[in-house]
Amino acid sequence: MKEITVKSSIDYKINIGTRIRFNIYEFIKEFNYNKIAVITDENVAKYYLEDVVNGLTPFIQVVTYNLPSGEKIKDISWFERLQQFLLNEQLDRHSAVIALGGGVVGDLSGFVASTYMRGIGFVQVPTTLLAHDSSIGGKVAINLGSIKNIIGHFYPPQAVIYDLDTLSTLSEQEFRSGLAEVIKHSLIGDAHLYEQLITKQELSVKDQSFEKILHRSIDVKRVIVEADELELGKRKFLNFGHTLGHAIESVYQSKNITHGEAVMVGILFDLFVSDLENGERQGMLSGGLITWLTNIGYKLALSEWRVNQLLQLMLKDKKNEKQLIALVLLRDYEQPYVKHFSPKEVKNLLEAFAK
Ligand code: NAD
Ligand code: ZN
Repeated sequence: MKEITVKSSIDYKINIGTRIRFNIYEFIKEFNYNKIAVITDENVAKYYLEDVVNGLTPFIQVVTYNLPSGEKIKDISWFERLQQFLLNEQLDRHSAVIALGGGVVGDLSGFVASTYMRGIGFVQVPTTLLAHDSSIGGKVAINLGSIKNIIGHFYPPQAVIYDLDTLSTLSEQEFRSGLAEVIKHSLIGDAHLYEQLITKQELSVKDQSFEKILHRSIDVKRVIVEADELELGKRKFLNFGHTLGHAIESVYQSKNITHGEAVMVGILFDLFVSDLENGERQGMLSGGLITWLTNIGYKLALSEWRVNQLLQLMLKDKKNEKQLIALVLLRDYEQPYVKHFSPKEVKNLLEAFAK
């Protein structure tokens, strides 16, 4: 068991361990909730809902909601259905929502919890590797059409309970997806971790070293969120890889590409631009990353490179200012900064990157 405290507008604990999904009540009893809605999705429900609910019901009244799985539920219609559900089940201001699942369930349920009766209790029980990132830091949101996370809030959870055993049922694709955020954290904040990662031939949640890797990745996020909870400055660095990543996620939605896989291509693009800005042709992009990614099964080539569509979406990114596109770049490992580019410049960069 490891406990990490995040100090922000509210302080909360990230509890990381194995088999802790069975006794979630231990971690939340201090909040004295009168009722709990466990919100999850169909895949996660199959494996873990019973474990979680059985651990809670001796102590507290529990209702559950199983969503379909996938990014499509992060929208207004599911937001409305969940609000109606909480109302029908008579949750009140002393109740809480537990998000049991990956980043999609966490983002949607958190946004619901943050707005129902102007905000009720909220607890994250992440079950994906990616959610080591999304469950921390309090960003909750839904999408509007193809624009990601445009309706949202900062609403930190009161507790995070991360049972690493749940990661054993993730598909390889979902594992790789989460790994992209680990790579992101290591590049912007822990060069030693980066080095350790890309020299590993194989990575699995069963590795002894994996838990340590996760702790370090979480710590990069914690430090940044504590310094800049509301993303007025430093927190923008966490969007490394995400300007293009989010655009790819939207454009190639139908191609079964995950958030992390899209972000991984975005990370390579930001490294490519960083190297150019640093006056180096190869630099950080060559440093063994691409070979390593290919070895562990990432597909880095997109079926076709739709530059104009990507550019249109990048123009709608929340970090932009005055019609300029913001990219997070690296002066060196662990040295991120934000630079703005004109749409024309980004178009040229995208075309050069595609070659
Ligand atoms: P997800 O929640 O859709 O989970 C991925 C898939 O894995 C789903 O099909 C899910 O049903 C399944 N699954 C979840 N846990 C499982 C388990 N233990 N075993 C087997 N299957 C399991 O997606 P995700 O990749 O966790 O999160 C992606 C989302 O997170 C995106 O919407 C992204 O925008 C968001 N995100 C948010 C933040 C933030 O700070 N709020 C940060 C990064 C990403
Ligand atoms: Zn992300």
